[in-house]
Amino acid sequence: MKADIDLDIGQKTFASGLLPELIAALRRSRQGDLVAVVGDEQSVGPELETWCRFTGHPLLESTVENGRTRFVFRCGAIPAPSEDTRPVGSRLWLYTNFDCNLRCDYCCVRSTPTAPRRELGLPRVQRIAQEAAELGVKEIFVTGGEPFLLEDIGEILAACAATAPTTVLTNGMLFVGRRAESLRSLPRDRIVLQISLDSATPERHDLHRGSGTWARAREGIQRARAQGFRVRIAATVSIDAEAEEFRRFLDEEKIAAEDRVIRRIALRGSAAEGVALGRADLVPEVTITADGVYWHPVGADDSDLLVTRDIFPLAESFAAVRRAFEREGEHANKLARIFNCA
Ligand code: SF4
Repeated sequence: MKADIDLDIGQKTFASGLLPELIAALRRSRQGDLVAVVGDEQSVGPELETWCRFTGHPLLESTVENGRTRFVFRCGAIPAPSEDTRPVGSRLWLYTNFDCNLRCDYCCVRSTPTAPRRELGLPRVQRIAQEAAELGVKEIFVTGGEPFLLEDIGEILAACAATAPTTVLTNGMLFVGRRAESLRSLPRDRIVLQISLDSATPERHDLHRGSGTWARAREGIQRARAQGFRVRIAATVSIDAEAEEFRRFLDEEKIAAEDRVIRRIALRGSAAEGVALGRADLVPEVTITADGVYWHPVGADDSDLLVTRDIFPLAESFAAVRRAFEREGEHANKLARIFNCA
């Protein structure tokens, strides 16, 4: 992860002068900047993590390079999303596969046409859907990679829709031939298509996603609507001005508020720039891939957000995510008590 400020602390620890260095680095930083701390003492990790939690500068990464430990933290918190009161487990995300017909430069899970498929597979999806029905799951989100690359995507979506209203995230470019057939068979009242469109005109969308993709996404939106599906349009943007411009476009297109998703690029996966997010920034949304259960869909290819490799029984993987969430909360509360001044 690239940082805005690199701080070489040598052998310093909190007992030998690290704190003034951190404070000086913060003084040189702006909100949202990333600070990399590189040192010889691995033992500084737990104390640095505690300092990050207490001061509200989330620790995002720790790696070992050439025998030296590198920590990256972000200056300041990300504003909490408004929907963070949703109970953990009410939303379930499934990564059906990791390969994709596109190679977007900000893909948060590194999907490309040559990425290994790492398929969840219909039998597992059917078992997940069956067990999810007993766990109070209110919505299922199916994503990838590109889910419509899978021959049996129709059966996968039908299994999910039988349990809960299901949204499938897609680039909208594969609704032809056999895949269009499988789409036709799906229940319109249980399936929503969330199609990616990043900008009002092709330039920015095509810059990130490949030449000609904007026009093909627009075609996909028309095709899905013509088949009677509700379509939600999802844009990934770099800055507020792009979000504002896209909002104006959606207004002109008369897209309802509930059918719009506008989010910032996350500094995960293939992205070289974006909002750096750590576990403490994200309210968990149980996310299942072929490799296990993750904290949130935005980091479903990253070991720091892996909760457990065991998917079944599903009740236990939900419990594991809830326990991890409680531990996060307990940690924050403990720090608040330690520093309670009155
Ligand atoms: S962002 Fe979506 S469409 Fe682009 S490569 Fe990743 S999975 Fe494929």
